[in-house]
Amino acid sequence: MSNLRTPLAFKINKITDHTPEIRELDLQLLNKPEFNFKAGQFVMLHVPVDGAKPALRAYSIASTDEQKNGFKLIFKFVETGIASCFIWALKGDETLTMTGPFGKVFFQEPPTEQIIFLNTGSGISQHFCFLESKMKTYPHLKYKLFFGVRKERDIYYEAELKFLQKDLPNFEYHYVLSRGSDEWDGKKGYVQDFIKDTDYKNIPTTFYLCGNGAMIKDVKHQLLEVDGLDKTRVWSEAFD
Ligand SMILES: Cc1cc2nc3c(=O)[nH]c(=O)nc-3n(C[C@H](O)[C@H](O)[C@H](O)COP(=O)(O)OP(=O)(O)OC[C@H]3O[C@@H](n4cnc5c(N)ncnc54)[C@H](O)[C@@H]3O)c2cc1C
Repeated sequence: MSNLRTPLAFKINKITDHTPEIRELDLQLLNKPEFNFKAGQFVMLHVPVDGAKPALRAYSIASTDEQKNGFKLIFKFVETGIASCFIWALKGDETLTMTGPFGKVFFQEPPTEQIIFLNTGSGISQHFCFLESKMKTYPHLKYKLFFGVRKERDIYYEAELKFLQKDLPNFEYHYVLSRGSDEWDGKKGYVQDFIKDTDYKNIPTTFYLCGNGAMIKDVKHQLLEVDGLDKTRVWSEAFD
């Protein structure tokens, strides 16, 4: 019988480079009928290391939990990073080893009227998984997603987010650029600068935060300590 520590083998169905620093893998389970997880969970990738034990790195699943034979992962390149160098060297015919699923950040049910997602870098992974997994059950909630990247060239996943909008009439998403050019007429600054525009003090709201630890710390300070929100309304996953 398998458990969370049993290494599972996955083949690569597709590699997509959204930007030079963002790579997505579409993975399919080998040798086992099902891989079950709940939206919000992550897997541990076993990165081969010459002459040593594999290095383990966590990656949040970026696709719907309705799929039982695989999932997508989104990777952000970290300079000289062990897993990053491994992932960017893949050709597509390799078998990847993972354990899981792990993690306890779940979509809270029954949901509040408004759901706000704040993410940076590759933190869209967990939030996209929530949206794709829950959209059929809760199509009419007010979803607002703030996606923090540095520059215009770092923007990705716009087609995927637009696609979700077709079935989610109250879903809005905004890219927030910390170093956008003068031509960028969207939002500039940090995702946390835009919480105040969401009327969360009047509308029952749950926040999901994912990615950069400093962003998460800032937002939690504002929501929990300054505004006094109940901690069941703020859920986070730090990647660093
Ligand atoms: C629960 C969880 C889920 C995660 N999900 C994802 C995901 O979906 N996608 C994703 O890309 N990453 C995710 N991460 C981060 C991931 O596990 C690795 O830490 C990251 O990919 C870097 O690994 P590496 O081996 O390439 O770098 P390492 O060899 O571990 O680190 C190299 C250097 O970079 C620094 N560093 C490590 N991680 C980061 C980082 N995230 N940002 C900036 N600098 C860093 C280290 O301090 C070190 O100096 C997640 C982390 C956690 C804890």
